Amino acid sequence: MAGSTSADVVVVGSGVAGSLVAYRLAKAGASVILLEAGPRLARWQIVENFRRAADKRDLCAPYPLVRHAPRPEPMNPGAYLVDRGATPYQPQYLRLVGGTTWHWAGAAWRLLPSDFRVKTLYGVGRDWPFPYETLEPWYGQAEADLGVAGPDIDLGSPRSTPYPMDALPLSWMDRRVAELLGAQSYRVVPEPMARNSRPYDARPACCGNNNCMPICPIGALYHAASHADKAERAGAALVAQAVAYRIEANDRAEIVAIHCKDPNGLSTRVTGRRFVIAANGIETPKLLLMSTSARFPKGIGNGSDQVGRNLMDHPAASVSFLANEALWPGRGPVEMSSIVDFRDGPFRAQQAAKKLHLSNAAPTLAVTRNLLDKGLTGGELDRQIREQCARRLTFGSFHEQLPSSENRVMLSAQKDALGLPRPEIAYSIDDYVRKSAADTHAQFARIAGIFEGTEIEHDDSLGASSHIMGTAIMGRDPNDSVVDDECRAHDHPNLFIAGSAVMPAGGSVNCTLTIAALSLRLAGTIEASLR
Ligand SMILES: Cc1cc2nc3c(=O)[nH]c(=O)nc-3n(C[C@H](O)[C@H](O)[C@H](O)COP(=O)(O)OP(=O)(O)OC[C@H]3O[C@@H](n4cnc5c(N)ncnc54)[C@H](O)[C@@H]3O)c2cc1C
Ligand code: SF4
Repeated sequence: MAGSTSADVVVVGSGVAGSLVAYRLAKAGASVILLEAGPRLARWQIVENFRRAADKRDLCAPYPLVRHAPRPEPMNPGAYLVDRGATPYQPQYLRLVGGTTWHWAGAAWRLLPSDFRVKTLYGVGRDWPFPYETLEPWYGQAEADLGVAGPDIDLGSPRSTPYPMDALPLSWMDRRVAELLGAQSYRVVPEPMARNSRPYDARPACCGNNNCMPICPIGALYHAASHADKAERAGAALVAQAVAYRIEANDRAEIVAIHCKDPNGLSTRVTGRRFVIAANGIETPKLLLMSTSARFPKGIGNGSDQVGRNLMDHPAASVSFLANEALWPGRGPVEMSSIVDFRDGPFRAQQAAKKLHLSNAAPTLAVTRNLLDKGLTGGELDRQIREQCARRLTFGSFHEQLPSSENRVMLSAQKDALGLPRPEIAYSIDDYVRKSAADTHAQFARIAGIFEGTEIEHDDSLGASSHIMGTAIMGRDPNDSVVDDECRAHDHPNLFIAGSAVMPAGGSVNCTLTIAALSLRLAGTIEASLR
């Protein structure tokens, strides 16, 4: 590894969590090394890879597989993540500079205050060790840093600062759906989005070309490589293709070094004063579990035996149908509106909260494939593609999931090309989610009815939403949690975890704005501790 191998702060992972921490601390004057397993790609290369990709359904296809930093392969489930148990769990994530926000949808929600107190209010799951109000200023900072365009309405999460940008304009489809569902007592709201509605932070305004997943060609959608770049400009050393594989602690339980391998397997020892692991909800626990020693036989940070456990996501169900009128999905960003009636209420004592959302992804691929399968060709195929693409609506959903020690990330006996264990996952979906999902099915049937829907297709598989939470869970008690309320490992005073792995409860909205808020707060804690 070229360059310095020692710094005030060593950060593992350059996704939104790691890059924000690295940028904040470098800007504050700390020396920072940011270790990233994957390569560095320019946007134009990713766009070009997308153009050439044979299967445009594969959101990961534009991001080349590298043998030293493997990642899940959506079209080849099980190629990397090893499922153990009856229910497969195959989320997606990327391993390159900037991490997974290269191909996210940009929905930038705050949790509700009640999401922080589910145990107290509803007797289920775990409370956060602090209330919503503690994170509120950091949510505001995160919205400013990512660049969030949001609606000027109450979304249930009190705010002390306005959104940095006005909301993006809604398409005809979004407005018409809000009108029709609103008349049937659903509350349909525009989503807050980390996507520019005007030029912001040296990135252009969204021009609505609907390619957000897998790649925004113009960078209007926030992506964390922008903060990795800023971290570098502020003086941080970003080392790509450096796969962290061991965290080293001394006899006083202080972390002294991260060991990483280059693509050829050559190892480097990187020392520092503070260490931040920000490798996401699966790779972070994997690294902690791999770091065993005589003093820490269960791995780093694992005195409670909670590392890797409490794996949560937002299990997803969806419905698609042909509406009785042309609504033209596909104009503007891939998602703009949500139904928020079911995010909170006393029902959470028995069943999961959830958020429903309207997809705005152009349905051309799915519609065309379906019509080809039916044997249509020529002029009739062309006519039907136009007709059905205008009328095809899809609604998705996220269900709240409670932490369970049996849902967990472990180390597989199967190894990757560097000889490191692949992640092995035990996962199941309990009745708390299934009860709510049965109601979701009924809500979707009702919504399809409002549009006099035909060719209705429900997907009740409760698959992954790639919001990987809980695997280094936060709490006050070192006996049942991994990090304290400052994201500091209970067992190691100079080790911090950044990312959704620390979240003790995930509500029913996407987790990335919460990751960003936690990361900024954590950076502030480290900065104060270095002074
Ligand atoms: C298709 C899709 C759409 C999504 N849409 C949304 C959305 O609309 N809204 C939302 O809030 N969330 C969304 N998400 C989730 C969101 O992308 C993640 O929550 C977020 O990117 C996580 O950020 P992170 O920094 O914690 O992890 P990541 O972005 O995954 O970054 C982790 C980084 O660590 C690196 N790393 C891993 N292991 C090592 C190692 N051993 N050594 C060194 N580096 C390592 C990785 O290469 C990676 O760069 C979506 C996810 C997907 C897959
Ligand atoms: S709609 Fe187009 S410009 Fe806007 S964020 Fe998505 S891909 Fe980028």
